[in-house]
Amino acid sequence: MTPAERNRIEALARSERPLIICDIDEVVLEFVSPFMAFLESHDHELRTDSFQLTGNVYFKKTGEPADKATISEFLERFFNEHDSWQKPAEGARETLATIEAKHGVDIVYLTAMPPRHHARRRALLDRHGFPHPMIATEEAKGAAVATLIRHHPRRPVAFIDDLPPNHVSVLETVPDALALHLMAYRPLRALLPPMPKGVRTVESWAEAAEAIAEHLSNLAC
Ligand SMILES: [Mg+2]
Repeated sequence: MTPAERNRIEALARSERPLIICDIDEVVLEFVSPFMAFLESHDHELRTDSFQLTGNVYFKKTGEPADKATISEFLERFFNEHDSWQKPAEGARETLATIEAKHGVDIVYLTAMPPRHHARRRALLDRHGFPHPMIATEEAKGAAVATLIRHHPRRPVAFIDDLPPNHVSVLETVPDALALHLMAYRPLRALLPPMPKGVRTVESWAEAAEAIAEHLSNLAC
């Protein structure tokens, strides 16, 4: 992370405004669909039989499943060139801009990705009109959120993510956060496990915006 980005995160942590924390893959940017295309370009395919990467990547010529190490290697290679594959998720940019203008909130991106890829992803976000600061971390998302609200633990928080364990982690840290499940890649939605308690599923960014507006107005009452 550059010193400038670090300063922006620090300023955001000192703010008392409501905080909207957005995951990136499958929330702000498409991930499943471009990762499938990437695998195809390396003679592999992702079969979406279940909600997992491990066990669902196959070598096309033989039909053999790729092992865990191979999948990790593909992910690392993908992250090294993800900026030429990933595109914004439908409605993300416009909706975030509207939420920011309407509700006077702070927005931050929180992505589970090795921090060494920060610069490449930062540039990709900027290119697609996502100007807000970004944290790339491999620690639990709840821990990252705790750091962000440490100066003002009672500031309202909304958290948007496609992976149930991330919601569990954040709700442990901020039990009264608005937890929204959003996933860009529709075919996988039906295969998701039941959402953890306290997590609301939204089908689109428009629906996420409505839920955030409702949550903030309830807090203001
Ligand atoms: Mg994600």
